Amino acid sequence: MQYFSLNNNAKAVGFEKAVRSGLAPDRGLYYPQQINALTDSFWDNFLSMNHHEIALAAIEQFVGDEIPKQELQKIVEDTLTFPFPVVELNQNLATLELFHGPTMAFKDVGGRFMARCLGYFNQTTIEKVTVLVATSGDTGGAVASGFLGVPGVEVVILYPKGKVSHIQELQLTTQGQNITALEIDGVFDDCQEMVKTAFLDETLKPHRNLTSANSINVARWLPQSFYYFFAVQELMKRKVNKPFVFSVPSGNFGNICAGFIARELGLPISHFIASTNQNDTFPRYMENGIFEPKPSVQTISNAMDVGNPSNFDRISKLFNQDLYRLKNICSSYRFSDKETHKAMQDLYENTSYIADPHGAIGYLGLQKYCEENPDIYGVFLETAHPVKFLDVVEKAIKTKVNIPPQIKEILDRTPEKTSISSYRELKDFLIDNAV
Ligand SMILES: *Cc1c(COP(=O)(O)O)cnc(C)c1O
Repeated sequence: MQYFSLNNNAKAVGFEKAVRSGLAPDRGLYYPQQINALTDSFWDNFLSMNHHEIALAAIEQFVGDEIPKQELQKIVEDTLTFPFPVVELNQNLATLELFHGPTMAFKDVGGRFMARCLGYFNQTTIEKVTVLVATSGDTGGAVASGFLGVPGVEVVILYPKGKVSHIQELQLTTQGQNITALEIDGVFDDCQEMVKTAFLDETLKPHRNLTSANSINVARWLPQSFYYFFAVQELMKRKVNKPFVFSVPSGNFGNICAGFIARELGLPISHFIASTNQNDTFPRYMENGIFEPKPSVQTISNAMDVGNPSNFDRISKLFNQDLYRLKNICSSYRFSDKETHKAMQDLYENTSYIADPHGAIGYLGLQKYCEENPDIYGVFLETAHPVKFLDVVEKAIKTKVNIPPQIKEILDRTPEKTSISSYRELKDFLIDNAV
């Protein structure tokens, strides 16, 4: 498969090159040259396939012949080692739990897949890569866990000081080995900005081959389509025969954009809801057709505190810049912290379900959509385990949350981090510590 740059000013590249570079040289996002719907024989067998078979069929065309099928199958099997339960909350409502991986957020799927692809490519090259990644909370942990010990890969994580939860900070600062955490004096946007500057900095090139593990990287983004298939398969097995509507708590819009890809591949999803917090660049775009990024504001759903969603160009491309077409399959709503808090309480009181603040926003999006479209089956994505936002969740539901073993394990570790307050310091750090 060839990938072209959405800025149209760089040459098309294969999968390996797209993964190794993250962003195209013209700063554009890579996008697949074509997307072919899955065949009739896939759909004939869909209900009897296991997760590994489904995932392999979904990703195959995007990798092409750059990873042999047997190897790709192994990568898929090693990536998907945990369940994706669809938990029904009432007759017309379920949540798709994406938090059963090692760092308890959906980003484990893309992080693990990308790490294994790079690991495969690195078997035949001596070229070392540095994965430079900005995190608003969950990406850092997933990337740290996914890339731990992968030969030829150094990981450098930038996170905003004091703006990630305690557990999130432990997940990204206590891995050691090839993982380094940098605490940035600023907000998430500052971290993202420093990463972008580093990518553009020609004088860094002799020292480091930089790539990104944010959802701009195709190997992080595309595997996120897998679990939409798993959920739809499960609903079909349960003989749900209403239109499926998925509500996706969104920040950088990689997750929902992977859902759109699943739909392009033929998956019967009738509508998507992009649910956001007060960082509402996308819902504003849906209202007035103007894409106007704003600086991010801090909310209790911190993984979605993104003012300039990086996957917007891909969504635009997918719908041919046609807002009317986009509105046909996607709605978007924003919610305040107060509403999020109340949603966690309502869910707990009415269904005994403990949602995290991001899942709660997904739930709110569905509720809003159902006011005018009641005859649907709604699924909201539970993108992280509530334990990752312990303070906020326990305050909302006034009950203690059980700490799962993956988290218990890291609670008594000591964080190791370096403080950075300017791009200059980051650059010096990257040069001084290059291996
Ligand atoms: C990253 C993240 C999101 C946002 O996902 P995008 O793909 O950036 O839209 C939502 N919820 C949680 C818990 C996350 O970690």
